[in-house]
Amino acid sequence: MELTNVGVIKSILGRHGFSFTKSLGQNFLTNPSVAPKMAKEGGAGPGMAVLEIGPGLGVLTKELAKAADQVLAVELDKKLEPVLKETLGDFDNVEVVYGDILKLDLEKLINEKFANKDFVVCANLPYYITSPIIMLLLESSLPFKSLTLMVQREAADRICAPVGSRQACALTVAVAYYAKAVKLFNVSRGSFLPQPKVDSCVIRLDLLEKPAIEVEDEAGFFRMVRAAFGQRRKTALNAISAGLDLPKEQVAEALKRAELAPNIRAEKLDMEQLGRLFKNLQI
Ligand code: SAM
Repeated sequence: MELTNVGVIKSILGRHGFSFTKSLGQNFLTNPSVAPKMAKEGGAGPGMAVLEIGPGLGVLTKELAKAADQVLAVELDKKLEPVLKETLGDFDNVEVVYGDILKLDLEKLINEKFANKDFVVCANLPYYITSPIIMLLLESSLPFKSLTLMVQREAADRICAPVGSRQACALTVAVAYYAKAVKLFNVSRGSFLPQPKVDSCVIRLDLLEKPAIEVEDEAGFFRMVRAAFGQRRKTALNAISAGLDLPKEQVAEALKRAELAPNIRAEKLDMEQLGRLFKNLQI
């Protein structure tokens, strides 16, 4: 069954009375070359387990199941259950769990299903929750090796930008703290049904063995990063002072002790400078 063929998709969905829910980011792949490439670049192979988020019709799930030992897919839309039973019926190494990836007890689920197996995450993400999913996974202590994700092209540009460059944002810093981000390949909007308004890009986040810099209080560091990037037109001094409700003198003093210009903007700060600023902020 060619799951990327629009005729086949329409016939399966029609048979099961399924209609797309736009608010769930349901844009299903119709370009046959994308899922095999994602599975390969995502590290799905012998001996590996894969966590997929949002299997949809199962296009990527099938490719992952062909390559890896085991696939666990989490899908929010229960209406896809009869569809996935049909499309994945031939695979005995796939299990679909129905629930919200942001609300499930993922650590429990992964321990239960993967035991101590090495695993990777591979997903054509629902775009409306790209950042929360990335943050949830990176901040968890789940032992995955990499995240291979289809995201909007603009999000890929930001996530993979160097920290300290104009395109960097708070998410860039968070990703760079935990992982090395690489853009793998672009995917045009015409590769999906229904067609989204924007193009996409597949990226891979390879987990670092230890965070890029040492900070004593991670939560505090990320609070400062979010504040610093929260108001892009302001200097880091004004943004941090407003965002964290701190006296300007305290932030100015921290910048000085960190040997940073008083009027520097957050996007000019590299990882090491952000770490130094946090250390000197003493919050
Ligand atoms: N993997 C399929 C493909 O590539 O054709 C579908 C990808 S589609 C962009 C995103 C999928 O994520 C949809 O099936 C949607 O129902 C599901 N989804 C949306 N929000 C979710 C959530 N919070 N947790 C789990 N799955 C979710």
